[in-house]
Amino acid sequence: MTRLFLSALVLPLLPLFMMAWDYEGHRVLSQIGLTVLPTNFPAFVHAPMARERIAFLGGEPDRWRNTADTALRHVNGPDHFLDLEDLAPLGLKPETLPPLRYDYVAEVARHHAKASPEKKEDGAGAVGFLPWSITEWHARLKSSFGSLKVYEELGTEEEVANARQNVLYAMGVLGHFVGDASQPLHTTRHFNGWVGANPKSYTTSKKFHAWIDGGYMRKSGGLDSERMKKQLRAARALPLDAVGRKEGRVFTESVRFLVEQWQQVEPLYRLEKEGKLTGEGEEGRGGRVLVEGQMVRGSQFLADLWLTAWMEAPPDNFLKARLVERKAGSKPAE
Ligand SMILES: [Zn+2]
Repeated sequence: MTRLFLSALVLPLLPLFMMAWDYEGHRVLSQIGLTVLPTNFPAFVHAPMARERIAFLGGEPDRWRNTADTALRHVNGPDHFLDLEDLAPLGLKPETLPPLRYDYVAEVARHHAKASPEKKEDGAGAVGFLPWSITEWHARLKSSFGSLKVYEELGTEEEVANARQNVLYAMGVLGHFVGDASQPLHTTRHFNGWVGANPKSYTTSKKFHAWIDGGYMRKSGGLDSERMKKQLRAARALPLDAVGRKEGRVFTESVRFLVEQWQQVEPLYRLEKEGKLTGEGEEGRGGRVLVEGQMVRGSQFLADLWLTAWMEAPPDNFLKARLVERKAGSKPAE
């Protein structure tokens, strides 16, 4: 079953979109990501209130899903996943996805216009926007850093404080979507129990997604943030692309990241089949390594994205010119 047809509104009462990690998972993922930023990263992000703000915002895009407002559900819902198996029926491949959201929408729409009615019912319209969502929030964060750099030089105390709050907001919301990308069930049509042909008899339980999001880790002893932290390396900027460019690589790296996590979908179902996801006894805790490891991967990618945004944010020169004018205008005439 597909979760979204572009032509259809998302019905407010159907549980079409699953949550990713529960709030606790998103919190920990952001909190430990903060610990691997370099010492020259803006220090205000480490103030207790700032850390808490980032961690709290790790749950915000899921709170947007609790609304009954169709407009918000429609725009926010598909931002949390990308079902990679459903790209091929659309004639798309992860490596050649259009990096801009509306170009992608247009491609899907073109495909629909061509497809026969039976084909349309056959998963061709399933979409998700997760890598676009990550890319766009990263760009917002970069923009916020760009204005902060200028306000710190020429702004008032209040402006600096506001610009810092904007940075925290974008860091926190970006954290949510990167966290979603590390939940393998957000990369697949098998997002809540195996669907379609099932030769290996994997679970079809409609409770599977929620169990992986949080139930399992809670039952098997809770998240061990100290142990997770130890698995992280120091944050580093994203690698340049094959021809040495910075432009466009947040999107390509986000897609690459999703494809990597998708490779854990079947191992996850296998663990369930082997009884390693029950949370009971030694055997039933056997899946913790994989689940915890996924959160660590998310946290690592998040820290790298935060760092890249800060390092590569050009000062906002338009804003700078206005502030220079303001300063000149406020000087007493000589
Ligand atoms: Zn989400």
